[in-house]
Amino acid sequence: MREHDPEPACSHLDQVRDVRPRTPEGCEECLRTGSWWVHLRLCLSCGHVGGCDNSPNKHATKHFHTSQHPLIQSFEPAEDWGWCYIDELFFEPAPLQKALQ
Ligand SMILES: [Zn+2]
Ligand SMILES: [Zn+2]
Ligand SMILES: [Zn+2]
Repeated sequence: MREHDPEPACSHLDQVRDVRPRTPEGCEECLRTGSWWVHLRLCLSCGHVGGCDNSPNKHATKHFHTSQHPLIQSFEPAEDWGWCYIDELFFEPAPLQKALQ
């Protein structure tokens, strides 16, 4: 008999805060430096908004490395998903509202 693999679980949902995007108009660092981004990601611990990994500066991932805030979700209006950098886990729908319940 094969062992049943347990569902992968993220243990970081308790780090999700009721965040408001700090820079809803775009990537926080790129707005400062005059650079640009492709898609936006929202940090669920502090509300940092940063560019995705297709963006030249990858500020969302850089924010994880400097802050150790593990969870982001997409900040694109048409997208509803999240990501844990530590567990490398994909969430759909995005975890913010669920984690705050
Ligand atoms: Zn996690
Ligand atoms: Zn940026
Ligand atoms: Zn953050």
